[in-house]
Amino acid sequence: MSEIRVRYAPSPTGDLHIGNARTALFNYLFAKSQGGKFILRIEDTDIARNVAGGEASQMNYLRWLGIEWDESVDVGGEYGPYRQLERLEVYQKYAEELVAKGLAYQCYCTSAELEAERDQLEAKGVDNIHYSRRCLEQPPSDRSEYSIRFKVPEEVTYTFTDLVRGEVTFESADIGDWVIVKANGIPTYNFACAVDDHLMKISHIFRGEEHITNTPKQMMIYDAFGWDVPVCGHMTLIVNEAGKKLSKRDADTVQFIQQYAEMGYLPEGMFNFISLLGHSPVSESEVLTADEIIASFDVNRLSKSPSTFDRAKLAFINTQHIKNLAEDELLELCMPHLIDADVLVGKSPDWARDLVNLFADRLTHGSEIVDLYDEFFDGEFVIADAAREFLTGDVDASVRTLTAFKNELEGLVEFDADAVKAAIKQTGKTAEVKGKNLFMPCRIGVSGAMHGPDLPVLVGLLGRDVAVARLNAVIEGL
Ligand code: GLU
Ligand code: ZN
Repeated sequence: MSEIRVRYAPSPTGDLHIGNARTALFNYLFAKSQGGKFILRIEDTDIARNVAGGEASQMNYLRWLGIEWDESVDVGGEYGPYRQLERLEVYQKYAEELVAKGLAYQCYCTSAELEAERDQLEAKGVDNIHYSRRCLEQPPSDRSEYSIRFKVPEEVTYTFTDLVRGEVTFESADIGDWVIVKANGIPTYNFACAVDDHLMKISHIFRGEEHITNTPKQMMIYDAFGWDVPVCGHMTLIVNEAGKKLSKRDADTVQFIQQYAEMGYLPEGMFNFISLLGHSPVSESEVLTADEIIASFDVNRLSKSPSTFDRAKLAFINTQHIKNLAEDELLELCMPHLIDADVLVGKSPDWARDLVNLFADRLTHGSEIVDLYDEFFDGEFVIADAAREFLTGDVDASVRTLTAFKNELEGLVEFDADAVKAAIKQTGKTAEVKGKNLFMPCRIGVSGAMHGPDLPVLVGLLGRDVAVARLNAVIEGL
């Protein structure tokens, strides 16, 4: 079998969207799992939609995700240039060849004329509209600008075996003669894409299902030149939790990779999560490293139904990857968020480290450290209903325990987690309580809740003044 070569071909129209990232990732995974090459090609022929910085931004965030390419505009390669606007002569040459062979023709019609013709045909009930070929016979003398149209063959059935959907068929009768090179000399997507995929020796194409109707047009170009058609896999839609197609305007779901990076999601977590959007691994666990994902990538396991962008799953997966971080790495992930939120003002250097460690096993992403800080340290101190019920179950014992704990904290010389731990122990002796009857009042007294992170560390971070004030408030309320 010839070399495996796949490509991700973004148009530089904006930042890296989750759907594009999925396309890039699946091509990358296929290449890596097959010992093939992954090419990044910039499809910038739709000039009006190009955005300054779009190309660089896409490349930045692909690299952030851990997706590296073998050939592209920056690293070069044998089949360049890799930016389509730098390949205009190539497309021109192939378009002229098609015209010479009678497989394409110069069209001098203005768009107003085409509209009028289309309306006429529609009025006659003709829905399969081939544009007029009169421009072939006699170009109007007053016009020098022309586009080049592909002459769609009559009554040809285009069939291909899609890696996701199986056999797919289109009829040429449903496709009108289409422009391959516009009057300004710039090729259309379908033409440039087919020419480049051939010249760049692309063997497989994984892309979103919105491109499936483009495939017959691209097949026409392959056929016209006698080229082999790459193997295609059109991946199913990504839908939101309501089952609707992810739309860039859908405010409920954050959709750009940059936004996840800025929120402190891990590249390895995003890589893992995106790899599950339309592919199910063999392993029981969905928490996987890049190497494991590459090793288990299998085109037979591409899903045939839409994949749901499940935010809880993303949080879970990212949490698992966060747990694998070294202490310093986690601190580095959280630090910018703590600084931005002014959480560290007046705190000792160890305070941030202790805070981050306190939540290390539950953080879903870096900026969440600020939410957790707010919840346990900064927010209004309220006692949850269940916690209040616990305390009122035996008011005497609760007051005795809370008071003893408060006294212990007030008497501490050093105020840190170790000292607080000893204080809790001593509280048990003084108040003659143990187990749940010791720990619950202590925890509720300083946090208002029956569950939470490691108690001595939490109290150490709260500091003596806040802890004592909270205990006093609880005692008074009983
Ligand atoms: N430039 C196209 C896009 O952004 C690429 C489609 C393809 O992979 O053929 O969707
Ligand atoms: Zn015409």
